[in-house]
Amino acid sequence: MEYLDFLVELHGNAERQGPGGDEQTRRAVELSGLANKQGLRIADIGCGTGASVLTLAKMLDAEITAVDFLPAFLTELSLRAASNGVSDRITTVEASMDKLEFEPSSFDAIWSEGAIYNIGFEAGVRDWRQYLKPNGILAVSELTWLTETRPQDLERFWNEAYPEVGTASEKLSVLERNGYTPLGYFPLPKECWMENYYHPVRRKLNSMRVKYNDSEVVPKYVEQELQEIRLYEAHSDYVSYGFYIAKKLTD
Ligand code: SAM
Repeated sequence: MEYLDFLVELHGNAERQGPGGDEQTRRAVELSGLANKQGLRIADIGCGTGASVLTLAKMLDAEITAVDFLPAFLTELSLRAASNGVSDRITTVEASMDKLEFEPSSFDAIWSEGAIYNIGFEAGVRDWRQYLKPNGILAVSELTWLTETRPQDLERFWNEAYPEVGTASEKLSVLERNGYTPLGYFPLPKECWMENYYHPVRRKLNSMRVKYNDSEVVPKYVEQELQEIRLYEAHSDYVSYGFYIAKKLTD
């Protein structure tokens, strides 16, 4: 089994594919100032099966373009949108986040929860800026150190998996030097990782381990995922996702 197929089976029917929470999406909306605006156009990039897309669609007067490069996730998102009665305001786009073909200045907001790391935080905030209208909102969650120093095993793991991991002050500087004014930051609480994400993932991993016990690669993939979960459980005071909400400065 290829790794991407493993990821699709692991996450394809899940509510979310990374740490997050409906309450935290709503908090980011409050910080963004979007709540009272009408006729918004929003892109949700790396949307997965659409946890944040559905929350935004229910909360805001908005048309949402939901972007992901895995069609299986977009199919699941469409089913969820239909059962939540918001299909008419959501369009899915199968595309890679580093090759978007939107018109310049076309969105009031770009949303991306737990996904910008796929092209890197700085590359993403720099590149996506062109698609925002003047004063448009960028709301992204990104792996963030919560302290200035960290246990070595944690530091080694994440520096290898995602060398751009940094503190909130470093991430805020990236936003400032790329033409944004930060409006808010908050770290995701532990339940966004454990209850909302790792608990369902761990249940699925256990069933996949049984199902694919003859496979050469699946047990290795399963073990990698479990290692990440164990590391987070041991060190949740040191690392989380930070939610960053920023406004595009006019040129
Ligand atoms: N935003 C969702 C959530 O919070 O549940 C999904 C987060 S998941 C950790 C990252 C998402 O980014 C996955 O849905 C994955 O398919 C998508 N992704 C990864 N690389 C991508 C790329 N190059 N272009 C578009 N989507 C990508």
